[in-house]
Amino acid sequence: MSELVLDGISKSFGDTEVVHGIDLTVAENEFVVLVGPSGCGKSTTLRMVAGLEAISSGELRIGGERVNDRSPGERDVAMVFQNYALYPHMSVAQNIAFGLRRRKLSRAERDAAVLEVAKLLEIEPLLDRRPRALSGGQRQRVAMGRAIIRDPQVFLFDEPLSNLDARLRLQMRLEIKRLHARKPVTTLYVTHDQTEAMTMADRVVVMNEGRIEQAGPPMEIYRNPRTRFVAEFIGAPA
Ligand code: ADP
Ligand code: MG
Repeated sequence: MSELVLDGISKSFGDTEVVHGIDLTVAENEFVVLVGPSGCGKSTTLRMVAGLEAISSGELRIGGERVNDRSPGERDVAMVFQNYALYPHMSVAQNIAFGLRRRKLSRAERDAAVLEVAKLLEIEPLLDRRPRALSGGQRQRVAMGRAIIRDPQVFLFDEPLSNLDARLRLQMRLEIKRLHARKPVTTLYVTHDQTEAMTMADRVVVMNEGRIEQAGPPMEIYRNPRTRFVAEFIGAPA
């Protein structure tokens, strides 16, 4: 059971509340995309789930357990960022193995885990290379490998494709979905790109100014936008 539940989650920085009581359940193995304009609170929400930002109020549950007070390392959550810094002095294999740094594993167990992930992402031939010898898409795959190898209960993505060119962005969208089909994980994926949201999501959650405007399957949101904001943002007739 690895359901993710945000139950009335809010965030204030000083006196300013920027996330206002988000209610959202991501079912086990569901791929939910949180989409909204820049500054609406997507990253803050995701960072609270990851444990990188304290939750001001509300309850966060993973697999039915309250995790508000657990550190990032204790949450069984893995996150892939837009700026997926790889270690330049380490090989691809070492970069992926870095995801296991908190686990007590033998060398052989570690190597086997790296190989399995590399096969899944089809980067096996690159394991001995340094990041500088990789393309942007290959680097993004290594960053995903570092997260996947932890075999997390919940996978979080924060605009992982924003730094890639249009062609590669399209390709990586398909690859992330293919990966999800082969190895389903409860996923919350953040983007400001409507097309990315509509093409990748099992369910789209549209956020504006710290609140959820609407949540539902892409076609339902497209056909029946509930607010003017959603209609304009998704680009469907209101
Ligand atoms: P998004 O990811 O949707 O672009 P963010 O979650 O990054 O939005 O930001 C939401 C709001 O919270 C913005 O107004 C931003 O300026 C503010 N904010 C984010 N982080 C901080 C912080 N550490 N201190 C103060 N304000 C912040
Ligand atoms: Mg952001």
